[in-house]
Amino acid sequence: MTLRMSTLFLRTLREDPVDAEVPSHRLLVRAGYVRRAAPGIYSWLPLGYKVYRNVEAIVREEMDAIGAQEVHFPALLPREPYEASNRWMEYGDNVFRLKDRKGADYLLGPTHEEMFTLLVKDLYSSYKDLPLSIYQIQTKYRDEPRPRAGILRGREFVMKDSYSFDVTDEDFKASYDAHRAAYIKMFDRFGLDYVIVAAMSGAMGGSASEEFLAIAENGEDTYVRCTSCDYAANVEAVRVPAPAVQEYDDAPAAHAENTPDTPTIETLVDHLNEKFPREDRAWTAADTLKNVVVTAAHPDGTREPIAIGVPGDREVDEKRLGAQLEPAEVQAFTEADFAANPALKKGYIGPGVLGEKRESGIRYLLDPRVVEGTRWVTGADVDGSHVLDLVAGRDFTGDGTIEAAEVRDGDACPNCGSPLESARGIEMGHIFQLGRKYSEALDLRVLDQNGKLVTVTMGSYGVGVSRAVAAIIENSHDELGIIWPREVSPADVHLVATGKDAEVFETAERLTAELEAAGVSVLFDDRQKVSPGVKFKDAELIGVPTIVVVGKGLADGQVEVKDRATGDRENVALDAVVAHVARVVHGG
Ligand code: ATP
Ligand code: MG
Repeated sequence: MTLRMSTLFLRTLREDPVDAEVPSHRLLVRAGYVRRAAPGIYSWLPLGYKVYRNVEAIVREEMDAIGAQEVHFPALLPREPYEASNRWMEYGDNVFRLKDRKGADYLLGPTHEEMFTLLVKDLYSSYKDLPLSIYQIQTKYRDEPRPRAGILRGREFVMKDSYSFDVTDEDFKASYDAHRAAYIKMFDRFGLDYVIVAAMSGAMGGSASEEFLAIAENGEDTYVRCTSCDYAANVEAVRVPAPAVQEYDDAPAAHAENTPDTPTIETLVDHLNEKFPREDRAWTAADTLKNVVVTAAHPDGTREPIAIGVPGDREVDEKRLGAQLEPAEVQAFTEADFAANPALKKGYIGPGVLGEKRESGIRYLLDPRVVEGTRWVTGADVDGSHVLDLVAGRDFTGDGTIEAAEVRDGDACPNCGSPLESARGIEMGHIFQLGRKYSEALDLRVLDQNGKLVTVTMGSYGVGVSRAVAAIIENSHDELGIIWPREVSPADVHLVATGKDAEVFETAERLTAELEAAGVSVLFDDRQKVSPGVKFKDAELIGVPTIVVVGKGLADGQVEVKDRATGDRENVALDAVVAHVARVVHGG
């Protein structure tokens, strides 16, 4: 059906919306695809909804193609299943909770593992019923702490989530691989530049997982890739290879020294080089052990101080730390917290007081580089004093290790040792090996061949359907507007009639009908009293990949065909233009 600009429910804007931080948000609002209803909550307008449905159709086709079956759950869900899996609490403030008129608790589903698991449990009881993969395309609700970037991170958004149910590990592997392959097809059809990276499993639980990231400077996810092998991982999931244990038989005993006014690593290193110069080389920040204390706010409301020891040349990476401590939320360790923990001397905190068995009682987690035998300069727990030659394993131990130190370009690849490099991306999809976390929590078991009850193995697979619309724009736009990849564009061609000539409009009208008859969908700019300049600007902003201009050239029997992405234009004879455009659109 032809979309006519004269009647289309559309207002394009010349100005950027004030709250828009990223190009996709700016362009979706300016080109009249979405309107904000509340923070992180958007309405789709006709053009936007067309693109959204194109994306949805691709997702649906690829899921159906691997034999997954579509179901549809409610978004409004009872508390009990989420209580059983512990997520009513674990999800914390991210869940929209509400009560019905009788006072019963409900939530707006942030994700649906529990419901799927229970539905299968309700209906199936034998290995003969499996394997099974079911999915839905559903509106999800998460009270995100920082709804930003428009539909890229909404508080209401659409996700495709699917779940696989298998009895054996081999069958599960096949389900996982089928989803992975379907995702590759989907993301190719979206026209996205993307990478597949190893990921953390987060609140979903389970063992292994991979993420599909759209490569984008504005992405919130940082990933690293190896400059030599095919290793790629979300930075949260990078495992630092632990160095070998070192000999320390001839290490001197640890000794505390006066280091006045050295509360930062920089001041400490300068002081060491001045007052305690080494013979072999200068001291560097990497010789120091920095102890950072944070507060973990657990979902049950308790606040736990945690100390993290990292080499002084590295910062603690908030996201890596957050991912490790999930479902707890990381908060700052405040002045009041220091006052409540007098053993901690700000700027001079050391292993002497850290650890569950030591004075502070604070859990002390160490970077994997702090292996037995490594020697450190670190706080002496006295103002203006540090300890030198403190040997890990001899003089101190932690309560465990933690992957919280920043990962830097040039760090060694955990696979092959070559340098890593980092880039940014937008998480578009996530495939998880859930294992038996939910089936155990909710007791989903079936009888196997021997009549024995076995727990079902599950996988969970998400795609950000609404987010994809924005991510595609992040990948594909210029200073003039959006450039849609063909498969998701709201129309195949944008046909612009310019001038005042009745013949132009009649010809454009006829071409539109002929294009539609040839299977080419048309966004037809049939507005009578709008200048050509405004029409061209709108066409560039809206981003349909092929623009056809019927105007001045018509006197010579010519129509202009323009490629939105490259800017290439060519004049095509009027009687050849329909066949020409159909070829451009359909390929070949
Ligand atoms: P993120 O780290 O970006 O918050 P997530 O790890 O919470 O994502 P999942 O729970 O795995 O995401 O959800 C599956 C998919 O749903 C994600 O890969 C993403 O594409 C999409 N998604 C998640 N949160 C949002 C949101 N707030 N707005 C839009 N899409 C989202
Ligand atoms: Mg999230």
